[in-house]
Amino acid sequence: MKALVKRKPEQGIWMEEVPVPQVGPNEVLIKIEKTAICGTDLHIYKWDEWSQRTIVPGLTIGHEFVGRIVEIGPGVTGYKIGDRVSAEGHIVCGHCRNCRAGRQHLCPNTVGIGVNRNGAFAEYMTMPASNLWPIPDQIPSELAAFFDPYGNAAHCALEFDLIGEDVLITGAGPIGIIAAGIAKHVGARNVVVTDVNDYRLKLAADMGATRVVNVTNQSLKDTVKDLHIEGFDVGLEMSGNPRAFNDMLDCMYHGGKIAMLGIMPRGAGIDWDKVIFKGLTLQGIYGRRMYETWYKMTQMVLTGFPLQKVLTHQIAIDDFQKGFDLMDAGNCGKVVCSWN
Ligand code: NAD
Ligand code: ZN
Repeated sequence: MKALVKRKPEQGIWMEEVPVPQVGPNEVLIKIEKTAICGTDLHIYKWDEWSQRTIVPGLTIGHEFVGRIVEIGPGVTGYKIGDRVSAEGHIVCGHCRNCRAGRQHLCPNTVGIGVNRNGAFAEYMTMPASNLWPIPDQIPSELAAFFDPYGNAAHCALEFDLIGEDVLITGAGPIGIIAAGIAKHVGARNVVVTDVNDYRLKLAADMGATRVVNVTNQSLKDTVKDLHIEGFDVGLEMSGNPRAFNDMLDCMYHGGKIAMLGIMPRGAGIDWDKVIFKGLTLQGIYGRRMYETWYKMTQMVLTGFPLQKVLTHQIAIDDFQKGFDLMDAGNCGKVVCSWN
């Protein structure tokens, strides 16, 4: 079968012929229909510092996908051949304290598909049946393909109560754009989104953000004044940029709460005075809650949440290079590749 493989320890990704994986007990074999490109895939493509210490060359990348079950391994119940599924890409151990307490998103033994084991940029992939998420017929495959980052956005945005609150989102990447939509969907008052990219800020505005701020030529503090508020009640950090996070700390209201999803560079400094004297709460967010986040995001789409607004490009898998170039340039929302 064809698969996108990180073959060499240098920039690039290579389409190769690899064996179809064998299904083991409690697993299914999935024929992939669509795979979306994640920022993580771009990091691996570019072979940055994180990839160099995380990825073993020879890996098939990709973790945002939808496909159909074509083979069922021993012990699997509740699924049949032909079922359309996506899946939680974090495979947890099932026996640690957190797993057994129903907090699988906090399992310290998590293995990620497309990072620690072969992933979804392939014609076929195996998955533990317990990780599958069936996709209702009403949800098109091009949206189901990126439930994984939609889940990051949902997990982060739903961490704190947003009803009536003034919300700041730093970073209008695909995840920040979706989070802006969710914040409005659940009843936030003002939803302000910052970025340095006007293309992405426009997507955030289309998604329902009440204000967008390009921090290269506008001041967030002016926006706060303009809105006649004293600061933000809830912050969603979705840029991974220390400058954005410091802007957020500056503009939080006393007693505010921050959910942090963006991955900061190692050793990034912050002004701790802001955290302490404003009495802020900081909550780290990793992955998606299993499977409450998946349930909520499915129901939101089924009841009209406009997830399609963040989908800007659909391409054939053979044009994968174009997709990675688009992601690198940043003038895109989600980029979804089709295998058929
Ligand atoms: P992305 O890189 O597409 O988006 C980040 C955005 O931040 C970009 O649009 C960029 O222009 C913007 N930005 C850069 N500097 C800024 C500044 N000073 N102020 C405001 N915005 C600025 O990433 P994404 O795919 O949307 O993911 C968002 C973040 O979440 C990334 O850091 C990603 O690594 C991280 N992430 C975390 C998890 C998790 O489980 N914690 C999961 C997925 C992604
Ligand atoms: Zn565990």
